[in-house]
Amino acid sequence: MDYHLTVYKQISFPKLNNLKPSLESTCLKLMEEAGELAQAVGKFRGLNGEKVDMNDKEVIELISRELLDVAQVAVSMMFVLEDTYGINIKEKLDQHIEKLIRKGYIKAESSS
Ligand SMILES: [Mg+2]
Repeated sequence: MDYHLTVYKQISFPKLNNLKPSLESTCLKLMEEAGELAQAVGKFRGLNGEKVDMNDKEVIELISRELLDVAQVAVSMMFVLEDTYGINIKEKLDQHIEKLIRKGYIKAESSS
């Protein structure tokens, strides 16, 4: 896998070792957090039509926090897949990146 075709955002999320997550609980939580993110985006410039008492900067801060909630739960679900179902996330990530290249979302450098 050629990981040098584009830039990467490298961030680490903790394992929530004081919870007993399952596929079901993490999936439901993911939907819930995705809903909160959508709600926050809706507040941006009052796009969802509701009266918003936050300025743009406050809304962007809220969107950032909600996005991290989504990412945290996604990572928690990855831990469940690994710990309970023996999935190798690194292997899945390699396949995921191959798919992105195949679909043309990451373009390969021309080797002249
Ligand atoms: Mg949230």
